Amino acid sequence: MNHIEFFKRFPTENDAIDFIVSTKYKNGYVCPKCGCVHHKIYHQKYNHRYLYCNNCKSEFSALTGTIFEHTHLDLRMWLFALNLVLIARKGISGLQLQRELGMKSYKGAFRMLNLIRRAMGTESHKDTFEAIVEIDETYVGGKPRKENTHKGKATKKAKRGRGTNKTPVVGVVERSSGRIHAKVAFPNKEGKKLSGKQLLSVLNEVCKKNTTVMTDQLKSYGILDGKTDKNFYHIKIGHSAVYSLGDGKHTNTIESCWAILKRGVYGIYHHVSVKHLQEYVDEFCYRLNHRDVDEALTNLLGLGIENIAA
Ligand SMILES: [Zn+2]
Repeated sequence: MNHIEFFKRFPTENDAIDFIVSTKYKNGYVCPKCGCVHHKIYHQKYNHRYLYCNNCKSEFSALTGTIFEHTHLDLRMWLFALNLVLIARKGISGLQLQRELGMKSYKGAFRMLNLIRRAMGTESHKDTFEAIVEIDETYVGGKPRKENTHKGKATKKAKRGRGTNKTPVVGVVERSSGRIHAKVAFPNKEGKKLSGKQLLSVLNEVCKKNTTVMTDQLKSYGILDGKTDKNFYHIKIGHSAVYSLGDGKHTNTIESCWAILKRGVYGIYHHVSVKHLQEYVDEFCYRLNHRDVDEALTNLLGLGIENIAA
């Protein structure tokens, strides 16, 4: 939605509340006090954010358990922020959001962004990827190592690829749908990055049994050549095979997702701290998985706003 469409759709805050509430309670609501089920939504007259029980006359906030629970901001600002995040292919920074919303504090804008990302991260793809998937890893974020810097300038060229100090992210893409699931992969207790077990657990989480898994030559993927609980079939892409795509043996789908992630990280965010990297990755995956912005927004309100303590 562009800005004009947005304000046509939500001319008043109550319109925004109606949209949020009707998405959240599309199957009706249960009074938290008496347990009475309501199929029609009754708003409290003096405060549209409150719902009303027709039976015991009690009232309660419609926004409990959502990312909007503790907000004093006009809810149109939240929907506007959600819309901005969803249409910005490379993402949007806290500073940009602060400017767009005319907010006084950067902290407030960053907190908003963080909650939106966490909501996006609640989407689950558990046991849904099937047929052919590609798995690959990439390295993002991180500043140069201390010992490699002198007065803030890197003295050694930072290592690239698998020898780097950046944080690995593992991603799986379902070939037929293009859906992506990605996880930040912290080193294990022994400090080993990207162990076979770690890679396998990412696959186990999202893939159905008997899925064909395309990988590159990273040694850890060797775990897929042994017996796996979900009976995965492993296709390892040779170096030269990358150039002969006719047979469908490639990991290009996931690699092009990494290109978008990296453009976002380096273009918009400059540095993503390791602490917030998973949230950023969740945001990026969510956008790739929901290309239609209207659907993305409704879906996000339906799923993501639950169970996130503000
Ligand atoms: Zn009641």
